[in-house]
Amino acid sequence: MFDFRFDIAALVISLISYAIITMKRNYLTRESRVFVACIVLNMISAVCNIISTIAVAYNSAALVSFAFLAKFIHFILIFLMTAGFYTASLIRVKEKGLGKIDQIILIAYLGINVVLLCTSFFTKFYFYFDGEYRLRTSFLYYLAVLLHIVMMVYTGILIAKKEKEEDSATAVYVVVAMAIYVTLTLVNAFVKGSNVYHFAVAVLFLCVHVILNNPEDYVAAYYSCFNDVAYKDSLIYHQNRNKQLHSIGISCGEMDFLKSTYSDLEIMTALKPFTEFARARFGAYNFYVIGTSQFVVQVKGNNSLIESTMSEIRNYFMEPISIGGVEFVISPLFAVVEDREKFDSVDSYFEVLSYCMNHTELFAAKQVLRVTSQHITFVNQEQEMVLAVTRAIKNDGVLIYYQPIYSAETGGYPTSEALVRIKDEKLGFISPADFIPILERNGMIVELGELILKRVCEDYQKYEFPKLGIERVEVNLSGRQLVVPGIYKKLLGIIKENQVPKDAILFEITESYTKESAQAYILENIKGITDNGIKLALDDFGTGYSTMINLIRLPFEIIKIDKSLLDNAMADLKSMVLLKNNVNMLKELKKKIVVEGVETSEEAKMLKNLGVHYFQGYLYSKPVSVEEYVSFLKPKERSAK
Ligand code: C2E
Ligand code: CA
Ligand code: CA
Repeated sequence: MFDFRFDIAALVISLISYAIITMKRNYLTRESRVFVACIVLNMISAVCNIISTIAVAYNSAALVSFAFLAKFIHFILIFLMTAGFYTASLIRVKEKGLGKIDQIILIAYLGINVVLLCTSFFTKFYFYFDGEYRLRTSFLYYLAVLLHIVMMVYTGILIAKKEKEEDSATAVYVVVAMAIYVTLTLVNAFVKGSNVYHFAVAVLFLCVHVILNNPEDYVAAYYSCFNDVAYKDSLIYHQNRNKQLHSIGISCGEMDFLKSTYSDLEIMTALKPFTEFARARFGAYNFYVIGTSQFVVQVKGNNSLIESTMSEIRNYFMEPISIGGVEFVISPLFAVVEDREKFDSVDSYFEVLSYCMNHTELFAAKQVLRVTSQHITFVNQEQEMVLAVTRAIKNDGVLIYYQPIYSAETGGYPTSEALVRIKDEKLGFISPADFIPILERNGMIVELGELILKRVCEDYQKYEFPKLGIERVEVNLSGRQLVVPGIYKKLLGIIKENQVPKDAILFEITESYTKESAQAYILENIKGITDNGIKLALDDFGTGYSTMINLIRLPFEIIKIDKSLLDNAMADLKSMVLLKNNVNMLKELKKKIVVEGVETSEEAKMLKNLGVHYFQGYLYSKPVSVEEYVSFLKPKERSAK
């Protein structure tokens, strides 16, 4: 009589599913949340079914209406559960969420079933209890079962199709689970006395939950907050529903400095209390961790809400935080994207926001950067440039040009400067002045710099530079390369691998990298380079970047005087005094001097009189391809200019 063994089994299995999902996932995605609701609905429905079965078993007229009610609720919950499963599957399958047609299908499904069920009160066409308190079903019941199966099979096909794109084994798994489910549902409907429906659902759900979005993909591990993947998901969700939000990107600017001194773990430990505060204050679904010290808060509302959110965060950081036992005051930098800004894609939205929050200084924003269409264009162009360089690296589009350097002592061209160019199918010839600063910002210059050195070494061997009278090639090193700990070993390795003598390469460096925390690494690399017999030149002397102290502190063999110093000297007498005295000072410090940007013979004459050792400029040659460079050097007897 009391045949609800399968319902008990269903409860147990559902509880396991529920436990697995909720324990494993402290952050549920939308899809998982609907799915958890389905599991709960199935459990309640199973309980109603049990209550109804027990009530009937007592064989009393008094309990029959109670049994009827429980059975009624049990059916309603099944409809809701089906609709929920359909919804959860669509969230998973369709990026755009539920469209109009899906909504109509859902409402129609629920509507038809509820009408079928409710009319059963009077018509007994759906279900009723007979005179002996036995449950009876009629033809409308079978119509509902059919509708239900159609709905579930359709959903199963959607999921299987989607899974097939990634992994066909999972698709097969879904199909098998769905086949078991449909079979059991048919047994439940047509085999008298069988009571396996909830069991079927429980088994199906236990199977399906395995393929739900992996929670680890959505959570920033250490912080236990939603991460960048979840943030993009949220952006897609809101964009597709035209429910837009403002995003406030928060970057703990000073962290950048600290990163070279403290480990990520130390920094995250220090920032964890902030993430806990922000998650509680703004809600887990509005707060995202998108980097070690970068966060996003989503807000819905007017400008004053944006302002008050930022000031709350600023207030939080009034208190110093302790990193590795040392106290620091963090002044957060903000980049705000308001909902009216338009982006090509969610990826572009994300890129622009994270770029702006990490580079507020580029746009001369003090603490808050309001992202406008100009910033979006800027970041997109920069991204395009990065893509072009990436393409060039892959397709042999990185070209090395050489600019011969004239020696006043010998009247020949014993050295040259290697200058990189990019040839791109889309953007054409790109000047380093356009792409080097971008690559320095995103770090790609480290990779490209190594490729440039390798190419120079290859040219050195292929064209037999020593035979052409080339003593040395000057290769530019970016400050961004010098802050990479131990990079000198890599550079030395490239030179050694290509069997180029160490004194045939000279590195030109500028002082553009002045961050205090990175100084130790820069010095270590400089020492590593010079200790191994490679000479250094200080580039761009006379521009804002150079400091006098480094002239004596660092082992520069050669100083390259910037073109601007020469240009100014030719234009006015006071600047001429500056140039003369700089040259004299450098000579007294026993430095070899190169003057860059020599364009006229007057300039050359003047510099010769000053006793400058080397001249580099268009007067002698522009930077040229290696073939042109070789033929430039071939006719040995060349009159000195
Ligand atoms: P830089 O190191 O100061 O290079 C000298 C620049 O002055 C070169 O520009 C060169 O073409 C230009 N120049 C030489 N003589 C004259 C002249 O008589 N008149 C004028 N107006 N310009 C002259 P380029 O090749 O466009 O490079 C620009 C900058 O890009 C370089 O300045 C350097 O900072 C960077 N760069 C170029 N190649 C590399 C590279 O391989 N690695 C790195 N890290 N940076 C590079
Ligand atoms: Ca240079
Ligand atoms: Ca220079």
